[in-house]
Amino acid sequence: MAIYNYVEDLVYSKILDLLSKKPDMCRCDKCIDDMAALALAGLPVIPYVTPDGGVFRQVQNMTNDKLKIEVATRCIRALETVKNHSKHKKQSDFSRFIPGEK
Ligand SMILES: [Zn+2]
Repeated sequence: MAIYNYVEDLVYSKILDLLSKKPDMCRCDKCIDDMAALALAGLPVIPYVTPDGGVFRQVQNMTNDKLKIEVATRCIRALETVKNHSKHKKQSDFSRFIPGEK
């Protein structure tokens, strides 16, 4: 049986939501994990057991607006940090190696 962290789910969905509005940003697994790690550091862990069971709904009701605002603020900051200190070269740097692109 897997144990999930509700705050982690919140962070990942917020990051994907923010990235959908920022087409210039890298969205590879590495960058998304970096953003999530940055955003999650210092946040509480809210464990739940099943992704679709009653425990999850209870957790959702438990989650207050303050935590959601905190998650959003941290995600925006994490996006900026990863954007400025990306651990790999930008995708566009490699575009010249792709046949057909100039
Ligand atoms: Zn990346």
